Amino acid sequence: AKVNYPEEFAGFAIVDTKDWNKPKYTTYKPKQFGDYDIDIEIECCGLCGSDIMTAKGGDHGWGSITLPQVVGHEIIGKVIKTGPKVTLHKLGDRVGLGAQAFACLDCNRCKHGNEQYCPHTVTTYDGVYPDGYVSQGGYASHVRAHEYMCFPIPEKLDSIHAASLCCAGLTVFSPLKRYIPKNLPEGQVPKVAIVGLGGLGHLAVQFCKALGAEPYVFSRTDNKKEQSFKLGATGFVTTGTEGWEKPFFDQFDLILNCAIGLSGLNIDAFLSILKVEGRFCSVGLPAADEKYNVSPFTFFGNGSCLCSSALGSREEAVELFQMAAENNIVPWVETVPISEENCQTALTRAWDGDVRYRFVFTEFDKAFGT
Ligand code: NDP
Ligand code: ZN
Repeated sequence: AKVNYPEEFAGFAIVDTKDWNKPKYTTYKPKQFGDYDIDIEIECCGLCGSDIMTAKGGDHGWGSITLPQVVGHEIIGKVIKTGPKVTLHKLGDRVGLGAQAFACLDCNRCKHGNEQYCPHTVTTYDGVYPDGYVSQGGYASHVRAHEYMCFPIPEKLDSIHAASLCCAGLTVFSPLKRYIPKNLPEGQVPKVAIVGLGGLGHLAVQFCKALGAEPYVFSRTDNKKEQSFKLGATGFVTTGTEGWEKPFFDQFDLILNCAIGLSGLNIDAFLSILKVEGRFCSVGLPAADEKYNVSPFTFFGNGSCLCSSALGSREEAVELFQMAAENNIVPWVETVPISEENCQTALTRAWDGDVRYRFVFTEFDKAFGT
């Protein structure tokens, strides 16, 4: 079918959280066009673990969602319409959009490079605009977003690779950039534990190295050992065996948790491998009903701390695309032409951990007649 743009956008939408992996073709009205908005005709879109957790909604996902819901927030496409106040992009530009579609750009956080924490933030999908409109994501013909949230993409990067950098890449780059210690004694190289080798984790390994630290992969099985070293890891640790943490006592400056679940994580063991005042930072976000089980005594042993990190800022995004282009940081992707059937296959396989390491939907022009 040919999408009836600009009146309507078309996409593959979750219609029932029980059928989280069976999106259906649908059409919908875009949000009201704002002065700073741009319309992107989508070329490709990555499949993020967040798409799955959102789609599962109240059924062991992140909680209730608005249906029908088009997910997808690793978007690359072409600018085909610009609002009257847009200055950052021109018609025809290739741009990327990650998981955030709007911020006020006026509050204290926005003014200090932390717009990902803006209290008025609207996420790319299942986010609510002030007028009540619920945002729809990138498994779609088009997406409309604030110009500031859309990133210019260096020519050197292929679209299918740039896609995953928009969410997975930025989400790991921001905390690595902020939390890898910069003032270690002469001759010491920071050591970072990357937990969970999936879409986010495999990019964390590459960016960690480019930022001058040593990445060690911590994975539940040894299936990904060889690939971890190919990605540039200094070390590989399997966390499936009792006592795995013992040899690593007091070794790590930072732990970046990229796991989508908590069941396979022994927090006490992980915190024990941190140096004094080390940090366990989680970008992984498990289902809403999963909680850490940890005593203050665990932190008492080394003054360590626990935090989360959300997405990244525009400034960080621009820097990360530059770094990816210069250091040849390339997501490992499997492309799939977008369709109902392929959405189902890819979502199912991604949830089963059966992808190395990111699905990217392609051939949007064929699916939507754009
Ligand atoms: P993937 O499915 O690609 O990777 C997740 C990895 O987590 C797996 O490869 C696996 O690694 C590990 N894992 C899976 N299940 C469990 C479990 N039960 N216990 C412990 N580890 C497990 O997901 P993504 O990389 O796309 O996303 C990872 C997480 O990051 C998700 O929760 C996602 O929602 C979140 N996210 C957060 C963002 C933020 O701003 N903070 C932005 C984007 C995503 P292994 O086999 O090596 O153990
Ligand atoms: Zn994401």
